[in-house]
Amino acid sequence: MEQDIPRNACATPSIDAQVNSDKLRLLVQQSYLGLFVSFAVSLLLCWVLWDYTDTRILMIWFGFMFLSTLVRLYLYLVHFRPQRDTQETLQHARPYVAALIASTLIWGIGALFIMPNDSQLGQAFTMFILIGMAGGVLATYSAHRSTAITGMLSILLPVTLWLYSQPSKLHLGMAIGSTIFIVVTLRGAKILSDAMHRNFHLGYKLQHAYEEADTRSRIDALTSINNRRSFFECGEQIISYCERNQLPLSAIVMDVDHFKRINDTHGHHFGDITLSRIGKILEAEFRKSDVLGRLGGEEFAILLPDTPLTQAQDLAEKLRQTIAATPIGCQDKQFSITVSIGVASGSYDIETLLPQADAAMYQAKTEGRNRTVTASPCGTVPSAA
Ligand code: GH3
Ligand code: MG
Ligand code: MG
Repeated sequence: MEQDIPRNACATPSIDAQVNSDKLRLLVQQSYLGLFVSFAVSLLLCWVLWDYTDTRILMIWFGFMFLSTLVRLYLYLVHFRPQRDTQETLQHARPYVAALIASTLIWGIGALFIMPNDSQLGQAFTMFILIGMAGGVLATYSAHRSTAITGMLSILLPVTLWLYSQPSKLHLGMAIGSTIFIVVTLRGAKILSDAMHRNFHLGYKLQHAYEEADTRSRIDALTSINNRRSFFECGEQIISYCERNQLPLSAIVMDVDHFKRINDTHGHHFGDITLSRIGKILEAEFRKSDVLGRLGGEEFAILLPDTPLTQAQDLAEKLRQTIAATPIGCQDKQFSITVSIGVASGSYDIETLLPQADAAMYQAKTEGRNRTVTASPCGTVPSAA
């Protein structure tokens, strides 16, 4: 059974990366419907322009539209999973966004070719459809500003520039109308996406702050293992698991010998370094399923699920030797420390088990320190695995 508190905080992606990934996820989700709308509108446009435009060009353009729809559908179905993590989303969204932009370019540049030369009504209808598509793109892709703006400009800019180059008043009117639309929607897109960005950002900031506060309330800052409260909480869980499955359970209590002397001789800072080093040794020496805790000052405890007393004794002795053999401090100031350890087994009650291990540890102190003492087993807990 795994300890539910991670011993080391795992690397979390930055808030900016998470926000960007959320925006892309929203963009992909929202654009799914747009895929079918775009295809249906391209069919409608082909049907209306059939009598005004070269049908061969219309067919070629529709072929491109069809292909881009298939590619987008494929990328959506094969690659997109809502539960992907931040890095995966960022990675998988890239080809999807590229396909989105490609399909808006097929709209924008394609419109230059399918626009009927000799029917102003046909041209106005094409323009009407393009404005609608551009508005749709802005609304659907608004979560991701750069995609929304690039998509909108890809659809409208080529035809708008072409309209400006035409001599008639009607063309100029349509070009100005399209320009006004572009300017107004650019501003709207900025305001909307800024508001969305702020919301996402705030949400993650709150979540990060909560997680940090939660970790601080459970993890001892100096040693990075459970603090006293968290040790007892995790301990209760692990003990009830052992009791339910009738597994052996042992406890170790450890206290640094003459720690006050270390503080007095080398300074409080080196005392802190000593504690931090002990935290690392404990993490390295014990299984992830064991519960480590700093009970206070220079006293530590370990709960060992599925571990009979003899095995716990061996582990405690190995720990004592490792600590004694590990130099503490830095190059010019090195010293070694010893610990006294008590081991106990035989109860599924933490209030019974720990005091027994604690008493054994005090016996180790009175017997001369730097040793391991085992409390005599009691109770009904199995003593062997
Ligand atoms: P013994 O072998 O009997 O355990 O002696 P000891 O000196 O280790 O025990 P004592 O209880 O007399 O002293 C414990 C010292 O631990 C006193 C206290 O200042 C120091 N201490 C407690 N918490 C911290 C801490 O977070 N950092 C540092 N540097 N020292 C601490
Ligand atoms: Mg001590
Ligand atoms: Mg102490």
